Amino acid sequence: MSKRDFYEILGVNRDASEDEIKKAYRKLAMKHHPDRNPDNPAAEEKFKEAKEAYEILSDGQKRAAYDQYGHAGVDPQSGMGGGGGGGGFADAFGGIFDEIFGGRGGGGGGRSNIYRGADLRYNLEITLEQAAHGTETKIRIPTMEVCEPCHGTGAKAGTQPKTCPTCNGSGQVRLQQGFFSIQQTCPKCHGTGRFIADPCKSCSGAGRIKQHKTLAVKIPAGVDEGDRIRLAGEGEHGVNGGPPGDLYVQIHLKAHTVFTRDHNDLHCEMPISFTTAALGGEIEIPTLDGAAAIKIPSETQSGRVFRLRGKGIKGVRSHTHGDLMCHVVVETPINLTDRQKELLKELEESSRDTGSKHNPRAKSWMDKVKEFFED
Ligand SMILES: [Zn+2]
Ligand SMILES: [Zn+2]
Repeated sequence: MSKRDFYEILGVNRDASEDEIKKAYRKLAMKHHPDRNPDNPAAEEKFKEAKEAYEILSDGQKRAAYDQYGHAGVDPQSGMGGGGGGGGFADAFGGIFDEIFGGRGGGGGGRSNIYRGADLRYNLEITLEQAAHGTETKIRIPTMEVCEPCHGTGAKAGTQPKTCPTCNGSGQVRLQQGFFSIQQTCPKCHGTGRFIADPCKSCSGAGRIKQHKTLAVKIPAGVDEGDRIRLAGEGEHGVNGGPPGDLYVQIHLKAHTVFTRDHNDLHCEMPISFTTAALGGEIEIPTLDGAAAIKIPSETQSGRVFRLRGKGIKGVRSHTHGDLMCHVVVETPINLTDRQKELLKELEESSRDTGSKHNPRAKSWMDKVKEFFED
């Protein structure tokens, strides 16, 4: 597979200034950023392509190598590029995006290792009633907090981290490899520029330890399956002073014993006796706001739906309540006594000659069956 020219990708001339390259990249990155193009692999590809081009052309040394030797001069696969890139979330959203989306002005070239913390997701299961009326709940989430004994330095109390002797604190080392002088993340300090001779015992030198925090979450009335509530700044800590990510509380609804939900409407089954269906009557049904009564007209058939306006759910973004749909299920009587069976037989006999008149559905079904065979 041949790779596209980096200048072509960014749409700049070969003699473009650092500023022009940065501007071109920002424009492309904003356009194709995964946050703005969810589930769009083509955009993601373009975003990665632009990022790669920018990483090379924004670095004077890499750009020179690329100008002279093309992709072979900067391709990590050809064994000359920088070592193991962590990649992942922080990488995709950090770096220049801190500048684009959130300020950290200045900079003056040079690659900063300042990253925004990762966004986190918390799955929260609630009942249909809680979703309908809103609720407040507490969630406990793991978090990395500054280690107290070492105050976040990672060095044992009473000692200080030293400047890394391998890179003299720059976090980068230069390697001579064939034609090129290559800049790499320092293998000793992993780019931090610091070296801890005597690590803190509580955090093993990380400077942060895993703890838990409890957050109060307000669930607005009307939330639905899959809705997300954003708690700004409650995600992972940023790296090297970068801003924290956000925490998204994702709503899941527990199955309800009576109702199923369809957006703002609720559905339920309404079993009625065979005689109520035939003669009519009144039935009490449950709603989310207590019991309600429904008048069942005589000659009600199974499958008929009674709509109770406004007895559904008022969605987070809607102004009115949905409806409650009660689906009639006519029950066949069971556990009949001999006497009751007799009565039913009597009923059957009394309507034998006029059967079709009493069974509208069976009649129209029979008519269709006849047509089907005559064709
Ligand atoms: Zn510590
Ligand atoms: Zn180092």
